[in-house]
Amino acid sequence: MELFRTPAEMQGWADACRREGRRIGFAPTMGALHAGHVSLYELLRSRRCNAVAASIFVNPTQFGPGEDFEKYPRDEARDLDMLRRAGVDAVLLPSVSDMYPEGSQTFVEVTGVSQGLCGAGRPGHFRGVATVVAKLFNIARPHVAAFGEKDYQQLAVIRRMALDLGFGIEIAGAPIVREADGLALSSRNRYLEGADRTAALCLSRGLFLAKSLFEGGERDPLALAAAVRSEIEGEPRAAIEYVEARHPETLEPVTLPSGSVTLLVAARVGPARLIDNITLHQGGQQ
Ligand code: AMP
Repeated sequence: MELFRTPAEMQGWADACRREGRRIGFAPTMGALHAGHVSLYELLRSRRCNAVAASIFVNPTQFGPGEDFEKYPRDEARDLDMLRRAGVDAVLLPSVSDMYPEGSQTFVEVTGVSQGLCGAGRPGHFRGVATVVAKLFNIARPHVAAFGEKDYQQLAVIRRMALDLGFGIEIAGAPIVREADGLALSSRNRYLEGADRTAALCLSRGLFLAKSLFEGGERDPLALAAAVRSEIEGEPRAAIEYVEARHPETLEPVTLPSGSVTLLVAARVGPARLIDNITLHQGGQQ
């Protein structure tokens, strides 16, 4: 596995791959890797990518004041080991000053789909995400880029940005990887200890409850969201930020009975802010 510390080195690698006719797959991360991240590289291989690249960069512009930028888990040696074992060909670990040259003035802002949900509670977050992903796309020059459905709104923001800015990159969404007990894997799960770890299960439990109601014929999105909400409200250690029923593609609110709906939740459990979601399709999977 090639290890690059500067964008220029990664660009050189990407250009060489393209000259050789290789198909570049890329998935950016903030490190503290887990099986959810590894699934992105497997997805890229399954999409016929024969040059697979990763980045590890804790992006300061997507953290708000008072958020966990400083204490975000960092574990470079372990991450590199996981990427190597996942068969990744190249990894970029850039510095903040390489990603944001002194005096940076250029940012990418995706409007509609960035608003509401996490965009409401984390102002500026998706501007930071869109900006860093646009930079990384210019550096890794992928044909295909993979993002997890765990960050459902982020995936929608990236799809919109890639289309609007004409990147010509295929955006692949990867299903949520969960622990055996249902908890969606997240680097921030490291913040959960003892009773908080058990309490965190209320998010997935609420979503799975809604799934079984949907399978039983409930099509009212507000009733499904209310069921998720009451399950989470039953857990005293959890504080809900939002529970919403949205259209799976546009992320517009849905209020009328519908054959497909995405339920999205964000809640704080102890020191961790957790998100999760599920998409329910009539006659479909998930
Ligand atoms: P992060 O390192 O948290 O910025 O995440 C990097 C990428 O991994 C994003 O595309 C996430 O959506 C994806 N990801 C994180 N957790 C999971 C998960 N449990 N299942 C699938 N993808 C995930």
